Amino acid sequence: MLVKCPKCGSNVEYPIKTWHFSSQKHSKNGEKPKIIMGIFKCPNCNARFRTTLESDTTPKEKISIKNMVEKIKNIRRELMQTLKNLREKIKTLETERANLMMEIEKLRKVAESKVIALESEVNMLREEVKSLRELLGYTEDLEE
Ligand SMILES: [Zn+2]
Repeated sequence: MLVKCPKCGSNVEYPIKTWHFSSQKHSKNGEKPKIIMGIFKCPNCNARFRTTLESDTTPKEKISIKNMVEKIKNIRRELMQTLKNLREKIKTLETERANLMMEIEKLRKVAESKVIALESEVNMLREEVKSLRELLGYTEDLEE
């Protein structure tokens, strides 16, 4: 690892001291990234400085697999939500259909009873017309 001296810009190859510390911030994958700090001494100007060397975070491969798993989980979650919504929609629509079928059945019965009532009324009127004709001396033949 090469670090540049902040004073003179010389390359400093080795730290005289390093230590790890965990960042308080959580990274995106929810883990505390471990950071390696180092104290360096410039061989050119003898300046001492400290700098971050590297983040000892999860390797990229592991991160991408984790991301993949997370993405798949999210897709699954969304899919489950969609399925749940669709199931609820189907349930609602089935209830509505049942209600409508009941309504149609009711209306059909009302219509049927109306037809029956009208038929008997028409029959009664026919009988009335017939008896009136008889009373007035008309015959069925004359009318036609
Ligand atoms: Zn220097």
